[in-house]
Amino acid sequence: MVVVMTADATASDLASVVERVEAAGGEAFVSRGESRTVVGLVGDVTGFHDLNLRALPGVMEVVRVSTPYKLVSREHHDPSTVYVGTTRVPIGPGTFTLIAGPCAVETPEQTLAAAQMAAAAGATLLRGGAYKPRTSPYAFQGLGEAGLAILADVRAETGLPIVTEVVDPNDVDLVASYADMLQVGTRNAQNFSLLAAVGDTGKPVMLKRGMSSTIEEWLLAAEYVAQRGNLGIVLCERGIRTFETTTRNTLDISAVPVCQSLSHLPIVVDPSHSGGRRNLVVPLSRAAIAIGADGIIVDVHPHPDAAIVDGAHALEGGDLRDLASAVRQLPPMVGRRPALPTERRPAA
Ligand code: PEP
Ligand code: MN
Repeated sequence: MVVVMTADATASDLASVVERVEAAGGEAFVSRGESRTVVGLVGDVTGFHDLNLRALPGVMEVVRVSTPYKLVSREHHDPSTVYVGTTRVPIGPGTFTLIAGPCAVETPEQTLAAAQMAAAAGATLLRGGAYKPRTSPYAFQGLGEAGLAILADVRAETGLPIVTEVVDPNDVDLVASYADMLQVGTRNAQNFSLLAAVGDTGKPVMLKRGMSSTIEEWLLAAEYVAQRGNLGIVLCERGIRTFETTTRNTLDISAVPVCQSLSHLPIVVDPSHSGGRRNLVVPLSRAAIAIGADGIIVDVHPHPDAAIVDGAHALEGGDLRDLASAVRQLPPMVGRRPALPTERRPAA
C-alpha cells in the first residue's frame, strides 16, 4: 500500500502518517520525489485499512499497488522527472538528455577534451568513471579520488554536471561529495547494500540494468534506492547477456516502453556499452530516441585508439557529428526538446 501526500503536506502531517502506521506494527518508508512525497507501507494491509489514513491532514490518497515494487511503480504515479546538478538539468518526459564523456577519467587534458566534445555534440551532462568495475583485476581500476577531482575541475570549466560510478558502499560518501549523479553499474545492479547507500545520499542515481536482470529484478533494485527516501532514480538500459556474440550485449530496446508502462522513473539508453562497437552507437541512439527514451549516455574520447578503457566504442570526429545531428533532429519528431540547464531553458 502507498500513501500519496498532497503537495502542501507538512513535515508533521508526514510524521503523523508514519507514527500511526508504526503504532499499528507496520513499517513506513518515506520517499521524496520532485512532485510528490509518497509513503510505502509494509505489514498487514488489512490492518492498515482500519487506520483511516485517508482522513489525516496532508494525505491525498491511499492506494493499493499490485506490483512488488511499490514506490517506483507507475500505478497512481505520473512519469517523473529527475533534475541533476545545481543547474537542474532535467531527465524525464518532454525532454531528451544527452549524457556524454569518457568511459574512464585518465588525465585532466583527456577529460576536458572529452567534455568539450560532449558539449559541442549537445550534451548537458558529463559522464566519466573514476572508479571502474573491471572484469579483470589486472585491468585499470580508475584513478579514484584523483579522478573525481579532475571531474570537478572539468565541471567548473565547462558547467556540465557530473555523472560518475560508485562501486563500493564505503566510497559512496566520498563520490557523492563530488558527483551530481551517482551511477550504479551493471555489475553492481543487485548489490543491495550499495543501492541502499546511494539511496541514503539523496543524490540522483542512475541505475543500470544488471546484465542478467529481468525488468522486475531491475525495478526491485530501484525500489531499494527509493526505500531509502530517494526517488531521484533514472533507469539505464545498457544491454543484456544473450546467446548472441556479435555485439557485446544485446540492447533490449523494448525495455524502454516496458519500463515506462511499469514505472514512473525516467529511462535512458546506453548505446555504447550495449553494442560495444563504434559503428553501432549512432544507429542504436537513433532507435533509443525513436522509441521514446528520456536520454542516452554515450562514451566519447579525444583519441579512442589510445583510450585505456573501451576505445572500441568511443566516438569522435564524424561519428560524433552524426550523433549530434541525430540528437538535434530526432527528439522534436517524438515530442521532446533538448534538456537544458535551468538558466538556458526557455520560459514555460
Ligand atoms: C560505464 O558506464 O562506464 C560502465 C561500466 O557501464 P556498465 O556498468 O553498463 O557496463
Ligand atoms: Mn566503458
